[in-house]
Amino acid sequence: MKHIKHIFFDLDDTLWDFEKNSGLILQQLFLEFDLTGKLKTDFNNFHTTYKKTNSLLWLQYAKKEIDKKYLRNHRFNLVFNQFDYDNYDENLIITDHYLNRAPNGKHLKEGCIDILEYLKQNYQLHIITNGFKEIQHIKIDGSGLRNYFSNIIISEEHNLTKPDEQIFRLAETLSGAKKEECIMIGDSFTSDVEGALNAGWEAIYFSLELDKTYTGRSISNLGELRSLF
Ligand SMILES: [Mg+2]
Repeated sequence: MKHIKHIFFDLDDTLWDFEKNSGLILQQLFLEFDLTGKLKTDFNNFHTTYKKTNSLLWLQYAKKEIDKKYLRNHRFNLVFNQFDYDNYDENLIITDHYLNRAPNGKHLKEGCIDILEYLKQNYQLHIITNGFKEIQHIKIDGSGLRNYFSNIIISEEHNLTKPDEQIFRLAETLSGAKKEECIMIGDSFTSDVEGALNAGWEAIYFSLELDKTYTGRSISNLGELRSLF
């Protein structure tokens, strides 16, 4: 990939281990608020339901069907409701705790720092992340990622969300790159892979499970990038 000069990474579950960091805090809150008693379920069931609900809300947010406030203020209660429990005020208190604690997580995906050290020698590295600015900056600083990246593009700061082609055009402008010099690496097929390919970039799909229907470039751990660059 000699023509590539700029490598753009997604943040959540590509570099920063969202699944682990978020899961640990949800587990604390589940215990502290006795959700097992209130929802009559175990943590794994709660966590699976939370993840599904959260993904659906993010899809609605990306389509501008709901705003940030709605997403935040209803997320936990929408999960509660699926277990026949309704408590809007408690939902707000848990939301506050979650938003204050989760971004401080420091777990990165396996091999993250090693591969960034390796890639930074020959490429300019950047981040494009869909997320809220105050949260993403805490994650990036707290986990020691900041200094590896020339540009950190957070969707909320530009009012553009992946896979919108405009966020990729903006990324080119900010980094002084031509589209044929750019590659995107991320774990979201729609936002990262399709988004980048539609913008005329190359893409690498970071997928823990082998997706046999996708014939493009993919990796199942960050270390595999060494053989590609
Ligand atoms: Mg991601």
